[in-house]
Amino acid sequence: MNTELLLQNLRVVPDFPIKGIQFYDVTTLFKNPACVKELGDALYELYKDKGITKVVGIESRGFILGSILAERLNAGIILARKPGKLPAEVYEESYGKEYGKDVIQIHKDAITEDDVVLIHDDLIATGGSLKAAYDLVQKFSPRKTYINVLMELVDLKGRSMFDPSIEITSLLSLHGE
Ligand code: AMP
Repeated sequence: MNTELLLQNLRVVPDFPIKGIQFYDVTTLFKNPACVKELGDALYELYKDKGITKVVGIESRGFILGSILAERLNAGIILARKPGKLPAEVYEESYGKEYGKDVIQIHKDAITEDDVVLIHDDLIATGGSLKAAYDLVQKFSPRKTYINVLMELVDLKGRSMFDPSIEITSLLSLHGE
């Protein structure tokens, strides 16, 4: 993977959305065709032999690469969304974020016990949102659940929210908050 290319195209915005947060803006990666290809290829290599049947993308930046990967893996894409967006019956989990609180929902008929699930988001900070997504997916009792993020803020130790037996991959390890 061309880490240099990806890091060069990642925009870092200080004090967004609130003072003290260093915001890693993936829109500058996503607008670059070479980065989109690089990211899609890297994710496909990681998950092509895992038997993934459903990719769960977390609203909204997790939808982008989640969809690209789902197509390449011949898997379905499931939308994990904020309240009030999904029209049918949902399961939900609430969680604390690096800045604020939130709730995440998935349609009750989105996943079955036969599925092998990959949860994907753009970034893990404290791990709160991914942990909520993981707990939400466990309500469906899938065969196995993997987790992937594009970026990991390693100093915030989001991984410590998870049992070490859960396979979590990140494409870019970033230092500082
Ligand atoms: P957390 O639940 O603390 O792991 O936060 C992860 C979620 O918040 C992801 O959906 C990210 O998109 C967003 N997020 C948190 N911190 C940042 C950051 N510094 N830069 C960009 N996105 C962030």
